[in-house]
Amino acid sequence: MRLAIISDIHSNLEALTAVLEDIEKRRADRVLCLGDVVGYGAEPGACLSEVRGRSDWILAGNHDWGAVGKVDLAYFNYSARAAAEWTGGQLAESERAFLSKLPLHRIWDGPEPSFLTVHSTPDRPHEWRYILSIDEAEYQFEQLQLPLCFVGHSHQPIVWRWEGPGKCSVAGREYLHIEPGKRYIVNVGSVGQPRDGDPRASYGLYDRERQEVIIHKVEYNIAAAQQKILRAGLPPRLAERLAHGV
Ligand code: ZN
Repeated sequence: MRLAIISDIHSNLEALTAVLEDIEKRRADRVLCLGDVVGYGAEPGACLSEVRGRSDWILAGNHDWGAVGKVDLAYFNYSARAAAEWTGGQLAESERAFLSKLPLHRIWDGPEPSFLTVHSTPDRPHEWRYILSIDEAEYQFEQLQLPLCFVGHSHQPIVWRWEGPGKCSVAGREYLHIEPGKRYIVNVGSVGQPRDGDPRASYGLYDRERQEVIIHKVEYNIAAAQQKILRAGLPPRLAERLAHGV
């Protein structure tokens, strides 16, 4: 079984469409979405409906809840707040209700090995913290009871590996072969607003038989997504950053 894991679409329909086509081409059996379907980009409703149509599950991201008033926008920077307020006004009542009911995490407990999916961190996901250092990764591994966890939120693909107390490291940014006895936290990157310096859309493909995860990068029509952001009257910086993947 092959599972496509997508996160941080951020209302970027061009990027989402390209990624879903790539997922189709690679014949993934399931699609799991780790949240932040909306926020920043110009097509929240269309993205939500595409993701709902294709995903087996969707988790809550801070921008999904920010757009519907479930996260305090005082914690958002200027452009994120402006986009969240704009997004809230674009969504239908049924879409707002759907976003506000999304779960913070879910465990894949089908045939072993099971794994956790969460937007931010395994520990206290409602605090929306980032895993950006070995220290933070090590702390999260201590809270994690399962050998594998998929996250989004930082928009930067990375694989953290834990081989025992005090033995935490970066295992890579593109590929993971899962070895028994070790634990892994995989950030699959962002579909709609990458921040690792590579403007291509990012997602993860987890092959359960091979026990490997590949981070795929997909080219999409960045100029079209930028034009829609500018035409919607959203902060121009949200368009500019897409060209640089920052
Ligand atoms: Zn995000």
